[in-house]
Amino acid sequence: MRDASPSAITHATLAGEPLHFRVEDNVLSAFAAVPVDSTNGLTLALLCTDGARVDVRIATRDGEYPLERLTVAPRFSAPPDSALLARQRREAARAAEVSRASHDTPRLFTEPFLPPRTTRITSGFGSGRTFNGTVTSRHMGTDYAGAVGAPVRATNRGVVRLVDRFYLGGNVVYLDHGDGLVSAYLHLSRQRVAVGDTVQRGDVIGEVGATGRVTGPHLHFIVRYGNVTVDPESVVAR
Ligand SMILES: [Zn+2]
Repeated sequence: MRDASPSAITHATLAGEPLHFRVEDNVLSAFAAVPVDSTNGLTLALLCTDGARVDVRIATRDGEYPLERLTVAPRFSAPPDSALLARQRREAARAAEVSRASHDTPRLFTEPFLPPRTTRITSGFGSGRTFNGTVTSRHMGTDYAGAVGAPVRATNRGVVRLVDRFYLGGNVVYLDHGDGLVSAYLHLSRQRVAVGDTVQRGDVIGEVGATGRVTGPHLHFIVRYGNVTVDPESVVAR
């Protein structure tokens, strides 16, 4: 960063999310998230102690996610039941609040992120469909194979913020790792933690299941930086 000493930056944002810098050996580093559909790069906005604002343009590279392109006329499905839609919105808002609040939690981890399962990935992050040029849906997590009852492990140290049964996600657990990083574990048959628990990296927090909207048992694993959902494979250690 040109002419910017670590102590000169008071606030920074990228893609609408605040960054939490750490200084080690006079090198400034922070996690940051690139939204999956960003195409023209991002602006890193820095506020300095002298009141100056410095914008740094960050180039981004398109992710290599499989995309099915459909160019046929739109089909209209039955409108969703409004009570159900309201429930889904409420649940999404609660998950979003966990992500927002994570920016106020200090970093709770010191080690790299682990995959929550050691089994094969059955569906990667990002695959989606474009509909007449517009992306209509994407797979915003990573699916791991597993039989009902198989262990699901905490990707890193964190605090349990949400344990509930969601309409789409089924039995869910959301962990706050601090500094804006949240992980979530969906479709569980059983949750083995309670809100407020501190879990260590690798602790079993639940069991694979087929709850919520699924076609069979698996773990759907989500990682978010603030409210930007990122590719879990970009965060977990390989
Ligand atoms: Zn999934």
